Amino acid sequence: MTTISAFARKLESELIDQHVHYYFAGDDGARVLLNDAVGKVISLRYLNDAACVACGRKIKKTWAQGYCFPCTQSKAQCDLCILKPELCHYAAGTCREPLWGEAHCMQDHFVYLENASGLKVGITRYSNTPTRFIDQGAISAMPIFKVKKRYDAGLIEVELARVIPDKTNWRKMLGPTASLDLRMEQALLEPVLADILAQKPDIQVERLNFGPLTLIYPIEAYPRVVKGIKLLELGAWQARLLGIKGQYLLFEEGVLNMRNLSGYALELSF
Ligand SMILES: [Zn+2]
Repeated sequence: MTTISAFARKLESELIDQHVHYYFAGDDGARVLLNDAVGKVISLRYLNDAACVACGRKIKKTWAQGYCFPCTQSKAQCDLCILKPELCHYAAGTCREPLWGEAHCMQDHFVYLENASGLKVGITRYSNTPTRFIDQGAISAMPIFKVKKRYDAGLIEVELARVIPDKTNWRKMLGPTASLDLRMEQALLEPVLADILAQKPDIQVERLNFGPLTLIYPIEAYPRVVKGIKLLELGAWQARLLGIKGQYLLFEEGVLNMRNLSGYALELSF
């Protein structure tokens, strides 16, 4: 029996030979490979405690997936421009934390195509791959452009989002996903891509030719019902773990979004 307790963080992950490995990290830095829990009965208990993922302050409830309220107002990572990168205001000198902005936003970014619940466009910091693809539950992903900063990636994404989705349908993502030929999708988008780049001569873009990355998740079966399990209200949850995809634990009767539990004290055992 493995038991670990912690103020939860989103699941850590690694891609090894196309296979996604998930870890639940303890407060002491130890971590448990959750792939080992698939097929077993897993117990999760909410320990009625929470702490901000940024500053560690004890709180009653979290805001914006793990933060205390003051941090949502002061941290650059909680600013609106993180959700809407085209609103980046670093250049205006008003970034909440310019040093954080330099390390996270003023860095090489990819614009990518992926298949999570179907074709979608997204952007990510160069150094945050493949974590970003895994967090979104993509079964394949393919960076198509490299740009110099998050803002530029955001401008391209906004244009591409006029023709293909930029959001994942999480219910659909948590079922079996039909495969897509991302190279073919890119070829179909070629006139649009050329058009976007022609309209944005100021953006320094490197065209990429990586080929798609395949991601295989530890899943024995998909849920019968794709609805969120409310662990904080229930206090505890015990069931056979069918699999893990994106940031979700999959059970016969529902799914548990681990990212939403960031900051809450949990005990996990299997
Ligand atoms: Zn805080």
